[in-house]
Amino acid sequence: MKQVAVIGGGAAGMMAAITAAKEGAQVTIYEKNEKLGKKLYITGKGRCNLTNFCEPSDFFPNVVSNPKFLYSAVSSFTSKDTCAFFEDAGLRLKVERGNRVFPQSDKSSDVIKTLEKELKANHVKVCLHREIKDLAELKEDAIIIATGGITYPSTGSTGDGYRFAKEMGHDVREPIQALVPLLAKDDFIGRLEGLSLRNVSAVIKSGKKKYYEGFGEMLFTDRGVSGPLILSASSYVGRKLEEAECILHIDLKPALSEEMLDARILRDFEEQKNKDFRNALGKLLPAKLIPVMVELSGIDPFKKVNTITKKSGSG
Ligand SMILES: Cc1cc2nc3c(=O)[nH]c(=O)nc-3n(C[C@H](O)[C@H](O)[C@H](O)COP(=O)(O)OP(=O)(O)OC[C@H]3O[C@@H](n4cnc5c(N)ncnc54)[C@H](O)[C@@H]3O)c2cc1C
Repeated sequence: MKQVAVIGGGAAGMMAAITAAKEGAQVTIYEKNEKLGKKLYITGKGRCNLTNFCEPSDFFPNVVSNPKFLYSAVSSFTSKDTCAFFEDAGLRLKVERGNRVFPQSDKSSDVIKTLEKELKANHVKVCLHREIKDLAELKEDAIIIATGGITYPSTGSTGDGYRFAKEMGHDVREPIQALVPLLAKDDFIGRLEGLSLRNVSAVIKSGKKKYYEGFGEMLFTDRGVSGPLILSASSYVGRKLEEAECILHIDLKPALSEEMLDARILRDFEEQKNKDFRNALGKLLPAKLIPVMVELSGIDPFKKVNTITKKSGSG
């Protein structure tokens, strides 16, 4: 009987071990943590969004870089196969908005339990507290490296797989962050910390080149920007940011054309013509943004609104 070693007992390692065992191999998982699936446990805010109920053809356009690499894997084990696998193993699933699939219990721990049950049913040996430092330690006929990437290293994925792959002669491209907040250089950023914006559009450019355009929700942090819109953007601009400085343009009123916005500002100003400029923006902007926008406009904050002309700002 063929012997297979799997390094790493995360989602990939457990699935690989079950699959190899079903094919008739004698499989051992080596996991450095005290338990299996430590990262899986925190996925989907503890609910584990275990797949998206869509066709492979819908899946690939959403892969940011190198979707071709996933063609074979995703076509031979589709998201429908994933659902069937878990349901056959006794885990009841549900499909939520955007075709996202979750366990009916909303507990990622149930996904882990199901995988553990399948490991046991297929006689996979699990060695916990066992960190593999060198591939030569393993005597099995085949080794599957399922050590994860280098995100959330506290869950065990510390990048060992890249080293193993290099040692085996593979080319490894320097990994780059994705789905992360972005840092901004502007001094005013810290003053906007905690401000969240809904239904805004964001464009990220370097010179005339547009690297990202999206719509949704974002928020300001102490040193930059975050939120769903920005996390998505980071996957597109990560490598670009290493090469060139990029500028994030935020459109707070994407539903309005420039002319409509102009008319709206004139209307607001007409209604508040005797107020100071700094006190006349309450209908247009969130409170936290007003002092920053006033400063950036270059207009005297104490200037009466009815004395502001098209040329008043610094541009
Ligand atoms: C906060 C968060 C939320 C997420 N939510 C979702 C979600 O809802 N849906 C989704 O599809 N994805 C989600 N993901 C992504 C998903 O978690 C990962 O894609 C997935 O866990 C990767 O599985 P893996 O088995 O490749 O790696 P990991 O889960 O990282 O497992 C690798 C395992 O290998 C072990 N290991 C590493 N090196 C060694 C070694 N030398 N010897 C022995 N063992 C070793 C580690 O301890 C670890 O247990 C989320 C990720 C995070 C961080």
